[in-house]
Amino acid sequence: RNGILILGFIFILSLIALIAVGLAQNKKLPDNFKYGIVFDAGSSHTSMYIYKWSAEKMNDTGLVYETASCEVKGPGISSYASNLQDIPVYLSKCMGKAKDLIPKYKHQDTPLYLGATAGMRLLRMENEELAKMILSAVTSLFNSYPFNFQGARIISGFEEGAYGWITINYLLGKLEKHNWKNQFLRENETQDTYGALDLGGASTQITFVTSTQISKQFKKTTQFRLYGKNYTVYTYSYLCHGVDQALLRKLALNAKDASPGALMEPCFHPGYERTVLTSSLFSSVCTKIYKNWISSRNLTIQGTGNFQKCKESITELFQNNYCNASYCTFDMIYRPPTEGHFGAFSAYYYAMDFLNLTSDKVSSLDMVTHKMEEFCSTPWSVVNTAFPQVKEKYLSEYCFSGTYVLTLLQKYNLTEYWTQVEFMDKINNKTEAGWTLGYMLNLTNMIPAELPQSKPFSHP
Ligand code: AMP
Repeated sequence: RNGILILGFIFILSLIALIAVGLAQNKKLPDNFKYGIVFDAGSSHTSMYIYKWSAEKMNDTGLVYETASCEVKGPGISSYASNLQDIPVYLSKCMGKAKDLIPKYKHQDTPLYLGATAGMRLLRMENEELAKMILSAVTSLFNSYPFNFQGARIISGFEEGAYGWITINYLLGKLEKHNWKNQFLRENETQDTYGALDLGGASTQITFVTSTQISKQFKKTTQFRLYGKNYTVYTYSYLCHGVDQALLRKLALNAKDASPGALMEPCFHPGYERTVLTSSLFSSVCTKIYKNWISSRNLTIQGTGNFQKCKESITELFQNNYCNASYCTFDMIYRPPTEGHFGAFSAYYYAMDFLNLTSDKVSSLDMVTHKMEEFCSTPWSVVNTAFPQVKEKYLSEYCFSGTYVLTLLQKYNLTEYWTQVEFMDKINNKTEAGWTLGYMLNLTNMIPAELPQSKPFSHP
């Protein structure tokens, strides 16, 4: 009988051991990743990006990537000035997604940022108090989440340009010249950085490394020391030269000459019509200067679809008359000669990608011009039928935005060699080009000023 008892005891012990081993095998090992969340509160919309990186390799270039993103439903955050109470609903869906995607035990260590760009810069110029109230509403909401909230603020155009430049060069692997991994590269192997061209709804940024000696009075350059190398980076953000504000300025400028009730518009397709209240054309800080010319009334804008005329009228949006420096591109802003290749993203990409005009598909400016002429003169009924899945606002404005992109690049002297500009959205098929990643990398000190001295222990 004792023997049976002992056998039974051994059997139960083995069963417990088996269950314990099973449980241990099924239990997920803690992942060795870190996460960061950045909200890009743009003029026309807000997006959330979640970045992920190995906790062991965090200081290497190119290793932080976008693991998820979320488009906030609704307009740009500056439109919430008169309905602050709706901000929690506006942002909470994407915050919920972040809570679900990031393991719970990592929430407290996950930095969370919100950066607002030119839409909020314009609101602040108009009404600083309202802009502050929007940021306070975001702050109280984000403080109620378990993440490590680092603040909601309006970033300057200078920062927007510089962080966009860091993002694309980090992702393209252009920053780290020779660390322990690639120390066998030839000494003179070039790692030239890309310039960054960013086109938003309300502003546009140009940023590139320059070898020109620039007088300090222009204050348009910044010095970065990244992975042991110094970079002198020129950057400028043109407010009111974003694609939405440019269209508004063009319509407001032309409205004064319009025959009562109608405005002929070469940048819209023939047969396209849009009725606006003229007061809406003058409500922006960018168009206020035209305000006194007409009183408010309904205006019907009618497309005539003429690329050359569209381009001529867009050219009027750039001031070329006066330059107090040796060289200006437009609007009296000093800019040294451009150097090297450029990556063009955001609305640069949306327009050129839709029009199939990205530099890997079209090789010369003549071809681009020809295709633009053809597209702009296509009747609206044909365009609308061909692309039922594209939002009408975007579709109706691709002739304008494509022509605007072309004019802007010409103003920058970047169209001589069409392939000098690469249109890009997700780099390495993963991470969106834009200022957000560079912002987070900088604020979390993830790009060292100096090269790692030796091979880190944790690397294979
Ligand atoms: P922002 O909101 O300031 O970042 O500006 C983004 C700009 O890109 C706005 O002018 C939007 O209208 C435009 N945009 C965003 N998504 C698309 C798209 N899929 N196609 C065309 N334009 C877009």
